[in-house]
Amino acid sequence: MIISVKKMAKEKEEVVLITKDGIRHDGRKKDDLRDISFQVGVLDRADGSALITWGRNKILAAVYGPRELHPKHMALPDRALIRCEYRMATFSVPDRKSPAPKRREREISKILAEALEPSIFNYLYPRSVIDVYINVLQADGGTRCAAIAVASLALADAGIPLKDLVVGCAAGNLYDQAVLDLDDVEDKEGQGDMPLAYLPHIDEIVLLQSDGVFSPDLYKTALDMLIPACKKIYKLQRDALKSKYSQITEEVADASGKEAKSKEKAKKEPAKPAKDGKKEAKKKTDDKKEKPGEKAAKKKKFSKKSDKKIDDEKKSSAKKEKDDKK
Ligand code: UDP
Repeated sequence: MIISVKKMAKEKEEVVLITKDGIRHDGRKKDDLRDISFQVGVLDRADGSALITWGRNKILAAVYGPRELHPKHMALPDRALIRCEYRMATFSVPDRKSPAPKRREREISKILAEALEPSIFNYLYPRSVIDVYINVLQADGGTRCAAIAVASLALADAGIPLKDLVVGCAAGNLYDQAVLDLDDVEDKEGQGDMPLAYLPHIDEIVLLQSDGVFSPDLYKTALDMLIPACKKIYKLQRDALKSKYSQITEEVADASGKEAKSKEKAKKEPAKPAKDGKKEAKKKTDDKKEKPGEKAAKKKKFSKKSDKKIDDEKKSSAKKEKDDKK
């Protein structure tokens, strides 16, 4: 079975979505993920931040808090409020997106907060708020799942105590075949989309949505693909966190090593005593002073010059007198 569709309204090229061997339009197999990479601590002014590149998706998450909640009437007496804001940049999709938040963005903001909350020890911060801002800079399908994964890393980067990291991934129905991690074309042309968020260490599903048509068999196959995929993404998240903190440890070790070296050097080469310094200064001032003989010689030279001048003046006045007599 070869299914061919137009990729996008603007891009007129025809693409084969899935071949009979189960190879997808971008060369992936049914259970292949796109390339994923995380970067932790990318913003200086946020308490925690992370960036994810998932295929062509680029999403930035920033965490502020726990902090005082305004307006105060929203405060929860027994735990922190987890407040998420999911936004797509106007330039993140092929057709310019309106900057005003629409129903989809409100829905995703809500489900992100609900998926993240079970991972946080939020009872430690009653009456406060933890704000999570998610900005989609470039979208290509599966942004809510990528947003969950990157937001969870930003929470960890903010030092908020977590039970586990949250991982998100979606599977879909592409012409009655279950496929993993749909991109934008597959999402739009496929028959179903099933995003899932999972706590791998606790083994708990915290979000499961379903949009489109899934037979019971297809649903089960999709779920069986999603759990191992989430575990793979979990490993990448942990590696990203570890690499940030191992880098910090290295920097601290380097700094303390340098300090120890400079202290050792200072011990080996004690600073020259202040006496020497005084002597040096005295020598310099002595050099500036004129030697007694030098001064006399200078004076003599000057008086010689002035004597000669007087003689010349005398000679010229005598000559003038002579001339007048004549
Ligand atoms: N999309 C778009 N314009 C929009 C919103 C979404 O082109 O205003 C695209 C975007 O690539 C997104 C995809 O549609 O990733 C699928 O959106 P969906 O609502 O299924 O959420 P997602 O799969 O991103 O979690």
